[in-house]
Amino acid sequence: MSWSEILGQDLAKRTLSAHLASGKTAGAYLFAGPEGVGKRLLVLELAKALNCTTEGSRPCDRCVTCQQITKGIHPDVHRVTPSGASNQIRIDDIRQVLERIGLRPYNARVQVAILEQAERLNEEAANSLLKSLEEPTTFTRFLLTTNQLPHCLPTIVSRCQILRCPPLPREIVQRILLDRHGCDPRTAEMTARLSQGSVSRALELADRWTDYERLLNQLADFRMSEWMETPLPESRQDVTHLLDGMVVRLRDRSAAAAGEAARSADVDRWVETAFDMIALRESLEQFVSPRLVAALAREKWLSLTEVKRQK
Ligand SMILES: [Zn+2]
Repeated sequence: MSWSEILGQDLAKRTLSAHLASGKTAGAYLFAGPEGVGKRLLVLELAKALNCTTEGSRPCDRCVTCQQITKGIHPDVHRVTPSGASNQIRIDDIRQVLERIGLRPYNARVQVAILEQAERLNEEAANSLLKSLEEPTTFTRFLLTTNQLPHCLPTIVSRCQILRCPPLPREIVQRILLDRHGCDPRTAEMTARLSQGSVSRALELADRWTDYERLLNQLADFRMSEWMETPLPESRQDVTHLLDGMVVRLRDRSAAAAGEAARSADVDRWVETAFDMIALRESLEQFVSPRLVAALAREKWLSLTEVKRQK
């Protein structure tokens, strides 16, 4: 993978390329953005670019250093993630990595410490890190990531150069699903729409899409009796996907009917119902019974089809 092969995140890529070209990279970067938008790829790419042994445009992705970093086995690149029951980055983890990066690199130019989910640094661990973040040696770099910037300790944030990684455009998620994950075109299109710009979220949906398609086809069928006999999904995740599916279907219908003056009332109702579904989806956590939410959604869906039948 090279910079140009990372799709999206143009601002972060441009910033980093400029820093690398000028030889003035920051001692600590914090990549902030939702899950599944390419933060980890950017971090790896930067770690490679800092250490690639090839002359010319870096990273080359072919030298031993690049390959070892890609595989996660380079002795000068250290990765720290939250662990333990509390799912935190603890002071022992930080001490260990500081000890290692305090030494000169084995065979790279710089020692790289990658800290994932920086919002999970507990205060003690963060404090032990402050001095190193503030005054990194010429041969150490800190690369932090977070999908919850507001929950990161201000003492950490203020010592890093922040690189914002926003949700990816829908077309890019779709392209990644098609080209890199072998999704079929229909699944890629539908899940990209629902992904909120996150490849990992799209992939999670894609995994289960066939089942939902089947469920949705039953929903789309206006034969009331059959729908009434369909068992309601039980799990929170299934209900979430069901609601997502309804929203997509409503949006498809609205888009298809847009511009047909005679149907504008229909379109309004569909859009309104889609928003109701989104609200239900957002409140799902508050319901004790996901099945109840599914039942409410079914009511809303049926009321739409009722109107249609009466015409
Ligand atoms: Zn290389």
